[in-house]
Amino acid sequence: MPTETFEFQVEARQLLQLMIHSVYSNKEVFLRELLSNASDALDKLRLEKLRDDSLDADVSDLHIEIDIDKEARTLTVRDNGIGMSYEEVGQLIGTIANSGTATFLKELREAQDEAGAEGLIGQFGVGFYSGFMAADEMTLVTRRAGESQGTRWTSRGEATYTLETVAEAPQGTSVTLHLKPADPENQLHDYTSPWKIREIVKRYSDFITWPIRMVPEQADGDSTPDPETLNSMKALWARSRDEVSDDEYHELYKHISHDWREPLETIRLQAEGTFEYQALLFVPAHAPHDLFTRDFKRGVQLYVKRVFIMDDCEALLPPYLRFVKGVVDAQDLSLNVSREILQQDRHIRMMQRRLTKKVLSTVKDFMAKDADRYATFWREFGPVLKEGLLTDTENREAIIAVASFATTHSDDEPTTLARYVERMKDGQDDIYYITGESRQSIENSPHMEAFRAKGVEVLLLTDGVDEVWVDAVGEYEGKKLRSIAKGAIDLDGKGDEKADEEREKQAEEYAGLLGWMRERLDDDIKEVRLSARLTVSPACVVSDAHDLTPALENMYRAMGQ
Ligand code: ADP
Ligand code: MG
Repeated sequence: MPTETFEFQVEARQLLQLMIHSVYSNKEVFLRELLSNASDALDKLRLEKLRDDSLDADVSDLHIEIDIDKEARTLTVRDNGIGMSYEEVGQLIGTIANSGTATFLKELREAQDEAGAEGLIGQFGVGFYSGFMAADEMTLVTRRAGESQGTRWTSRGEATYTLETVAEAPQGTSVTLHLKPADPENQLHDYTSPWKIREIVKRYSDFITWPIRMVPEQADGDSTPDPETLNSMKALWARSRDEVSDDEYHELYKHISHDWREPLETIRLQAEGTFEYQALLFVPAHAPHDLFTRDFKRGVQLYVKRVFIMDDCEALLPPYLRFVKGVVDAQDLSLNVSREILQQDRHIRMMQRRLTKKVLSTVKDFMAKDADRYATFWREFGPVLKEGLLTDTENREAIIAVASFATTHSDDEPTTLARYVERMKDGQDDIYYITGESRQSIENSPHMEAFRAKGVEVLLLTDGVDEVWVDAVGEYEGKKLRSIAKGAIDLDGKGDEKADEEREKQAEEYAGLLGWMRERLDDDIKEVRLSARLTVSPACVVSDAHDLTPALENMYRAMGQ
């Protein structure tokens, strides 16, 4: 096949432009990205071979190799992993598939200036393309395990890339960076220095479970020197807490999550005994934009005895904790374990319960000890955590305890249900709430008038899931959760005879009018009644206590039900 030239997608081109012209100071992270891809490729091959022993692939010495050529000013990262087919190279390298990159681009479009754009590079893993921060040309040669022909991809990071078939290529992938001219002013960025490479690998990729080797440059006349392994390969989760620095944990987090920012919290957990495991979980500091999409990838990886088994392991945490990233390493599972088996395994279920409780207790600690961290957490993940109120009855109380809600009591400080109850007025039996699109629209709702006039606190619930959980949960500490937009609400309290009399009198007085309205609106409403809930507006529409609210009706309609 001849060499073919292809155009990058618009988005890829935009990203490449940014990489090429980047003045981002931390350019060296490109190496982490390439090593991370190589490590993934080795994991994938090992697994594929495990599943299919007939796969024609050599897995006897899986490793990563870094080669420097000072003369040619090239840096090559090579792995003997899964490799890519011709089609895969076009798909995976030619387009922007990864969701982190999609978020990156979205925020990039929103970033007003160049400084903002540079800042963003530091926050997202932009993967393979980050090589163009250091290189003016990249070449990738790859052969997929089991296939006979290889593929060469080249690009100068501009509008196009080329693809061609190559007859001879070793299994796996090698990526060669043709480094930009050296900056004599800044020796720090000399990626042809073995010292520099050692330092970068140590800093960002030490925990990679495959050996990262470098062959020192050959002195004249010498025989080829032995390669040097640059990383310790120690699984961070298996080391004791005081042996590992926060920075090391954070690098692992970045490797797993494709988030370049620091996590909000690192959680360690060890279980000994009949079912031994170690877990290292991370609570991110930012919700990913696709958290509420159907195919959102969960972030917990499963290892068995230090060997990577699967990404995105849904059996380890419930769906409402899908934002948690990390690693679980179990000692007593088969390397062949499948998702189906995991779903049914009793020990895995026990592990899931324990991890869940640990995450919830971590949030409780935020709340008790670090108001800022709690506020960040709840802003980012409150909406998804509340799904647990519907699905996890066992932990319902623990979730309620760490939940907080906007309230008429304060313009900016949310309240817990416990504090709401403390502030309830004498004679108030219920916890009042209203749901809607935004705080502003709710606060201007006529339903609020009487509550405002009487100074009764109302929770302002604006997340989609709110309408559903309030119904499912129903009450808190014996106090009913009541929507002020549903059913009849008697704010004056029961047994106030004067008020009752007054209302009866009014009902008689207005019977004619109400009857007339009822006839006129018969097709659209169930009932017309005099209300004590309004002080300024003349009328408002109210749902029956058991009706769906308008927003829920919309939600179900959108879901096609
Ligand atoms: P990400 O790693 O987040 O998916 P990248 O831009 O780093 O994004 O890589 C894009 C894709 O290209 C990877 O998901 C992988 O499928 C493929 N890829 C990159 N490097 C390699 C490699 N060394 N071996 C095999 N596949 C690779
Ligand atoms: Mg990557």
